[in-house]
Amino acid sequence: MLKGKTALVTGSTSGIGLAIAKALAQQGARIVLNGFGDAEAPRKEIEALGVDVAYHGADMSQPQQIEEMMTFAAFRFGRVDILVNNAGIQHVAKIEEFPVERWDAIIAINLTSAFHTTRLAIPAMREANWGRVINIASAHGLVASAQKSAYVAAKHGIVGFTKSAALELATTGVTSNAICPGWVLTPLVQKQIDARAKRDGISLAEAQVELLGEKQPSLQFTTVEQLGGLAVFLCSPAADQVRGVAWQMDGGWTAQ
Ligand code: NAD
Repeated sequence: MLKGKTALVTGSTSGIGLAIAKALAQQGARIVLNGFGDAEAPRKEIEALGVDVAYHGADMSQPQQIEEMMTFAAFRFGRVDILVNNAGIQHVAKIEEFPVERWDAIIAINLTSAFHTTRLAIPAMREANWGRVINIASAHGLVASAQKSAYVAAKHGIVGFTKSAALELATTGVTSNAICPGWVLTPLVQKQIDARAKRDGISLAEAQVELLGEKQPSLQFTTVEQLGGLAVFLCSPAADQVRGVAWQMDGGWTAQ
């Protein structure tokens, strides 16, 4: 379905981003990976799916590096047809104790980076009259939790940005949508499980059950493969008129 298209997924060396990159590659898309840590293993996994893959290590908190990554992608594959803004970090602390530097980093990586990638991707998408911008928001783009002020602000922000982009692009073949996962068992959430187990003196398994029980009525994690499936759907012709939505995949979290 996506043969001949190029997908750039930010923060795709791990977790949700890597799974979405794989799901799009399975549909034939060329992939530009981005993110920190080991890029070789993800690159090989994508290559094994029989598509071209490139990697750029831009730091999503640095606008200049984001520009370099977008130029690199266009140089390598012609243009970016599918942009998945996925890179994200978390920090948990009360507002009055929140490190200012962490606030700035979360807003830069989880929100502002999507402005930069999107503004740089849109001209070629408009020219081709086809494109997909998929922003990985969160249940925290729709509802809040205590001690996650920066994350909640950034995720609500990206849901708003998604809608503005959808309106600006409404008469074109370019759509902009957000995906709002609930708990997904990735390194980002494992850190929170580890912290909870330590804080409450309970086992990791108990901490996992507690974490799900507080927010996610299904009591099951959303899987990265399920999120990959939703991203593939949003790239399909069936989703041509899905515009500006914030689509929950959260086990009922935001239905409460
Ligand atoms: P993860 O920690 O497994 O992956 C994050 C990815 O972002 C990694 O590839 C990392 O290298 C990259 N990254 C971090 N900082 C970066 C930077 N400055 N520049 C470039 N890349 C950077 O996390 P994940 O759980 O897969 O999260 C992916 C996205 O999904 C995030 O936006 C997160 O907020 C969102 N999300 C996650 C969950 C969850 O339960 N895991 C729920 C809702 C939303």
